[in-house]
Amino acid sequence: MKILSAKFIKSATAPEHYPDEALPEIAFAGKSNVGKSSLINALVNKRGLAQTSSTPGRTRLINFFTVNDELSLVDLPGYGYARAPEKIRNQWGPMIEKYLLQRKALRLVIVILDVRREISQEDLSLFEWLQFHQIPYSPVLTKIDKVSKNDLSSQKKNIRSCLGLIDPILAFSAVKGTGKDQIWKAILKATKMNQTET
Ligand code: GDP
Repeated sequence: MKILSAKFIKSATAPEHYPDEALPEIAFAGKSNVGKSSLINALVNKRGLAQTSSTPGRTRLINFFTVNDELSLVDLPGYGYARAPEKIRNQWGPMIEKYLLQRKALRLVIVILDVRREISQEDLSLFEWLQFHQIPYSPVLTKIDKVSKNDLSSQKKNIRSCLGLIDPILAFSAVKGTGKDQIWKAILKATKMNQTET
């Protein structure tokens, strides 16, 4: 995908503050500190667009971005940060669920998983919930620069059998830039945008 522009539009917590649904939308979800911001920044070739932070659990808002004024990317707040205050933890689920259920422009949820970690209970609950509501999703294993090829392929197998998937699992490294094209392909397929643009 040729990136001509990538812009932050706004942050919101409630549907009345979401931007208009003029563009097809792709949402990014994952545990705090999984590498979600790094992945979004790498996709749009813009360091610092999505916040990257060494303090997990800081981003508690839904952040909306546009790419080339033709696609909307949404950074959902990271889940599962045990040290976040309980009040904030309790707000996360309903905020994310509301967005995922109500957003008509939503085409795909990219769920980011750390290749080095076992799939967590929170990840599994999210996948089950997405399956139940028939919301299209795609798991992406990140930080693959940290593991061997063998470990990567056995982790891919694990995730596929865990989720009952037949499609290949996407893999990514923000450090090496590996896997970016495949993620763009999945995005363009989900949005039915012209794949010759990649
Ligand atoms: P977020 O909280 O999910 O948005 O995670 P960040 O993008 O802020 O990344 C959390 C930490 O993981 C940071 O220290 C990043 O530098 C690191 N990180 C993110 N992606 C990768 C990757 O692909 N490989 C490696 N080795 N580190 C990564």
